Amino acid sequence: MKKKLILVTGGAGFLGSNLCKVLVEQGNYVVCIDNLYTGRKENIVDLMEKENFIFINHDIIQPINLDTVFSFKSGDISITEVEQIYNLACPASPIHYQKDPIQTLKTSVWGIMNMLAIAKKTNATILQASTSEVYGDAQITPQNETYHGNVNTIGIRACYDEGKRVAETLLFDYHRMYNVNIKVMRIFNTYGPNMDPLDGRVVSNFIVQALRNDDITVYGDGEQTRSFCYVTDLIEGMMRLMNSNDTIHGPVNIGNPGEFTVKQLADLVIELTGSKSKIIYMPLPQDDPCRRRPDITLAKEKLNWEPKIQLKEGIEKTMQYFKEII
Ligand code: UDP
Repeated sequence: MKKKLILVTGGAGFLGSNLCKVLVEQGNYVVCIDNLYTGRKENIVDLMEKENFIFINHDIIQPINLDTVFSFKSGDISITEVEQIYNLACPASPIHYQKDPIQTLKTSVWGIMNMLAIAKKTNATILQASTSEVYGDAQITPQNETYHGNVNTIGIRACYDEGKRVAETLLFDYHRMYNVNIKVMRIFNTYGPNMDPLDGRVVSNFIVQALRNDDITVYGDGEQTRSFCYVTDLIEGMMRLMNSNDTIHGPVNIGNPGEFTVKQLADLVIELTGSKSKIIYMPLPQDDPCRRRPDITLAKEKLNWEPKIQLKEGIEKTMQYFKEII
């Protein structure tokens, strides 16, 4: 396979670092762009030693100069040679994206505009990490890509949801106006190694709490559902979309259709860790979606993709990761 110059924004984050690892293993030249707001250097320390990987501390809210030259150990490569851009940069956990909602919106909207400018200039294919949050508190289940969603535009989740929705619009407008080759994936809840123990997501919270025998914090009555995809499955789907036929633009749902209540997840984590933790109930955050489950018919048809790792196996692998780092 021909080696490519690939930009990954948010490359030090949970998904970005897992993606960079695979791209580097394939021998591509990978430029990881991250401002380390939620991304972590720990996630990329091993990659930093590779000659085909470089890290650039940059906030994508600021434009990237098209005269930029990336200095790899084996030589310089101009940004004009970039072939693929994965735009993953944006805090994704409610506690992080709600901390500075205006910054979150700028990251999604100004960030994608800056990346689209590069894609337009270089003819690179650009993949946007969109989200199941574009469906908001969905009134249909499972959610398929034709559903237009139910987002509270003035609620506390809107900075993330609306930012990602505008980003999708911009991608399709750049495609229609300038023929930029775009790929939009809608990512459903994902978990696995390189999650930040302080991320505040349900999977990381529950596993860390269980390993420490702390109380397990279920928000609301725990009857709300999520569908959890193991990270290697998600990265495989993402790369298949990026490398798909030029006529495929998405949006495509990538997630695991296995649907679980938050209470079921808590029980499973307690069982698998053998923890003495007790479940406690806390208030449900505002606008927390009731049901979330992807319809992945399109991903199956167009990308020949479906997840392989089911929840029990994925939680066991993720437990191992957290045991090593906390
Ligand atoms: N949640 C919970 N306890 C926690 C963290 C989250 O019960 O310690 C709930 C949260 O209210 C939501 C679900 O788990 O209903 C998934 O939350 P997460 O933040 O992981 O993802 P998102 O809400 O963005 O899907």
